[in-house]
Amino acid sequence: MRSLLRRCTACGRYTLSKEKCPQCGGPVKVPHPPKFSPEDKYQKYRIMQKLLQGK
Ligand SMILES: [Zn+2]
Repeated sequence: MRSLLRRCTACGRYTLSKEKCPQCGGPVKVPHPPKFSPEDKYQKYRIMQKLLQGK
């Protein structure tokens, strides 16, 4: 599910506007997109394996 919420980069206010902040007219962008990366997960797994195996 994609969020429609944007955040003003100028004042930090959340808005549904895609164009600009209704408060200050500043540029808006999608707030912190999800950081879930499969690579990260695998890397963590690999590190754990290394720790378990390596001596
Ligand atoms: Zn603003």
